[in-house]
Amino acid sequence: MKNSNKCPICNGNKEFSTTTFTVDLGTNLIVVRNTPATICSNCGEEWIDDTIAEQLEDIVNEAKAKNRMIEVIDFKLESVA
Ligand SMILES: [Zn+2]
Repeated sequence: MKNSNKCPICNGNKEFSTTTFTVDLGTNLIVVRNTPATICSNCGEEWIDDTIAEQLEDIVNEAKAKNRMIEVIDFKLESVA
């Protein structure tokens, strides 16, 4: 895993935080709150880890199956610690 603390875009500081991940599927909108991410404190660019991305994929697939117009999910509640 790359562990640079500098943003490659603006050279600002990257900080571990959470973000709201949104997937717009056209007919459905899936919103995953409290998604762990690394965020640049200067320009706001976000990076999501591969492991987190995999979990997000599972959450999104589950949400798709529910087939609601808008599905809002809390990442922390979905993930197993
Ligand atoms: Zn930046």
